Amino acid sequence: MSNSTFLSSFWEGFQIVKSHKTDSLITITLKPDSTAVCQCGRSSNSVHDYQWRVLKEAMMFDTPVELVVQTRRINCSSCGVKTEAISWVAPYSRMTNRLKGYIEKLLPLLPIKHISELTGVHWHTIKEVDKHRLKRVVPTVPWSDLRQLVMDEFAIFKGHRYATVIADAQTHQVLWIGIGRSRKDIRPFFEELGDNAANIEVVAMDMNTAFDLEVQAHCPNARIVYDLFHVVAKFGREVMDRVRVDQANQLKTDKKARRWIKRSRWVLLKNRENLNIKQQSYLDEILSINRELMVTHLLGAQLKELWYCDSEEQAQGLWEIWWQQVNESGIQPLINFTKKLKPYLHGIVASASYHLNTCTLEGINNKIKLIKRMGYGYRDTDYFFLKIKAAFPGKPR
Ligand SMILES: [Zn+2]
Repeated sequence: MSNSTFLSSFWEGFQIVKSHKTDSLITITLKPDSTAVCQCGRSSNSVHDYQWRVLKEAMMFDTPVELVVQTRRINCSSCGVKTEAISWVAPYSRMTNRLKGYIEKLLPLLPIKHISELTGVHWHTIKEVDKHRLKRVVPTVPWSDLRQLVMDEFAIFKGHRYATVIADAQTHQVLWIGIGRSRKDIRPFFEELGDNAANIEVVAMDMNTAFDLEVQAHCPNARIVYDLFHVVAKFGREVMDRVRVDQANQLKTDKKARRWIKRSRWVLLKNRENLNIKQQSYLDEILSINRELMVTHLLGAQLKELWYCDSEEQAQGLWEIWWQQVNESGIQPLINFTKKLKPYLHGIVASASYHLNTCTLEGINNKIKLIKRMGYGYRDTDYFFLKIKAAFPGKPR
C-alpha cells in the first residue's frame, strides 16, 4: 500500500490529488474515485455537476486539517438531481464524522473554548455538536412509571430569573425543566404527563410556591409533602434572625451581651448535634441569659420533629402541642410564622407517610455552577436544560 492509498483510505470513495502543509494548516484536496451514490442509496453514473466543499478534519501531527473535496450532484433515477452521499460526512455538515466523534469525546472533559482551540472548530459549531450528543444520551421519560415527584425552583442568570425542575423522587431522574415558576409555567409538564397524572401518589415541594394548586388540578390522587428544609430555612430567616436582632437591640446598655447575641446567628441556626463542644457551650450560654432566644430555639427544634413522625396521627398531635406552645410563648415573630404555616399543615403531616424531600434536587445548584464555570452556553436555555437532564439521568428503578 503506498502512502497515498493508505491516507486515502480515511476518505472512502475519494482519493488525494493534492496536499499542502503550512505551520498552521494541512490542506488536502480530494476527488471522487468511485461511482456516486445518492442519499437514497441508488448509485448513478450520471453526473449533473461538480461542486467544491471545504470540510474540517481531525488534526494530524498537532496541525489542523482542512479538506477541499470535489463532490458531485447526480441525476438519480428516483430523486432527480441530488448531492451524492459521502459515508464519512453528514449532509450539510462542515466537518467529517471523525472530527465530530473526536469533539464528542472531548466534550465531557473540557470547556468548549479549549476544544475550539484544540480543533480549530468554531465555538458555536461545537455547541451544536454537543446538543446532538446530549439529545442522544438524555434518557426518555418513563411517563407511565411515574408515581412520586419532587419539584423545586432555582435561580438562573444571577438570581434574576427562575426555572422549575421536576424529578422522579424514586430514580432521581430529572424529567422536566422550564423557565419560570408560576402555575402556567409548569403546566406543560402536566400536559405531557396526560392520563398518567392519575398514577401520581405524592409530590414533594417547597410550601411557598404555586406548585401545589397546579398539582391538585392535574393529579387527582396526589398528596403534597412540603419540604422540611425549606421550612427550616424560612424559620431561620423569619423567626430566629428576627428574635435575635430584637433581643440584641433591647440590650442597648450591655454592649458585651449585645455583641454576643448578635454574633450567635450561626450557632442558633445549626442543629445542636452539628456543633462542636465549644459551640455547644456558647449556645447554652446564649440561651441561658435570654428566655426569648431559648424558647424560639427550642420550638425551632421541635418544629423539625413534625417531619419525622411514625404516623400522621402522631404528627397531627405533635402539631397541636406545638401550636399551643407557640401561642403561649407570646413571641410575635414565632406566632406570625406559625399562622402562615397552618394552611400547609396537611403537607407537613403527610410527610409521616411519604419520606420525600427536595434534597434530591440539591445537586442541581452545584451542577449549574459547574456548567457556568465550564463556560457552556447557559444563555441558550435549551442547551442548558439538556445539560442538566444529561447530568441527572436517574438510577435504575
Ligand atoms: Zn436518489
